Amino acid sequence: KGERLRLPPWLKTEIPIGKNYNKLKNTLRELNLHTVCEEARCPNIGECWGGGEYATSTATIMLMGDTCTRGCRFCSVKTARRPPPLDPEEPYNTAKAIAAWGLDYVVLTSVDRDDIPDGGAEHFAKTVSNLKERNPKILVECLTPDFRGDLAAVEKIALSGLDVYAHNVETVRDLQRHVRDPRANFDQSLSVLRHAKKVKPSVLTKTSIMLGLGETDAQIHAALKELWDAGVDCLTLGQYMQPTKRHLKVEEYVTPEKFAYWEKVGQEMGFVYTASGPLVRSSYKAVAWLVQDALK
Ligand code: SF4
Ligand code: SF4
Repeated sequence: KGERLRLPPWLKTEIPIGKNYNKLKNTLRELNLHTVCEEARCPNIGECWGGGEYATSTATIMLMGDTCTRGCRFCSVKTARRPPPLDPEEPYNTAKAIAAWGLDYVVLTSVDRDDIPDGGAEHFAKTVSNLKERNPKILVECLTPDFRGDLAAVEKIALSGLDVYAHNVETVRDLQRHVRDPRANFDQSLSVLRHAKKVKPSVLTKTSIMLGLGETDAQIHAALKELWDAGVDCLTLGQYMQPTKRHLKVEEYVTPEKFAYWEKVGQEMGFVYTASGPLVRSSYKAVAWLVQDALK
């Protein structure tokens, strides 16, 4: 296929760095935490870590190592069949470090560990319960794998004390196979979200869709409808960005106006909130702020 698309002006804007940013950045080194914010060079870091417009600082922490057993075509995380074993101390050390770091809202996420019998669910849940013990005020969101549809694993995390259960469907139904690892699919992801809500109705469930991968409007509408029918509470839509030349190409830079349109569609459908914009990430700070509001 043809040339790579040029970056449109709305993706070139600099986001101001808030006053908390340097403080968080300086303490991070000593704590030995791995943030997706830094590793993925997320453009929102100044805002998420900084305070500013929303009186919240948020960050995304990666658990269970930096090597995934899957290989999705949009994702730049390293892949191996057998990544190194889990560090049994991680749930304690990470909880301790996050509690000391001074965040209001934390997203815990992980690679997929299909090499471990429970996919690491116990490890995830322990991190949450330890963190909540140390800092009951911090809001915790877990952005989890699909655990190959293992609902006992989903349940373990849903009941761990978290506030938000997030799992991303990533793209519309018809593009699943093209975009995600073949072990993932739309129905399996829906079942994860449905089950988390079923076992813990007070938890907010949340999912994210990347736009710009060649999906049609009709396919997006259908995805939103299916998510709504599965009882999903919160929705984020953001622009897909190609991490390296070896990854899936961007088919379209969706305009801010079109993102605003999808936000309206989501709101009208009745989601607790829909955050939709070119730079919106599932863990974006404005989203953390919306969640805080929804949990009040
Ligand atoms: Fe970190 Fe997510 Fe914010 Fe990016 S959007 S800086 S990954 S918390
Ligand atoms: Fe990346 Fe997650 Fe896919 Fe692993 S499962 S390759 S971490 S998107």
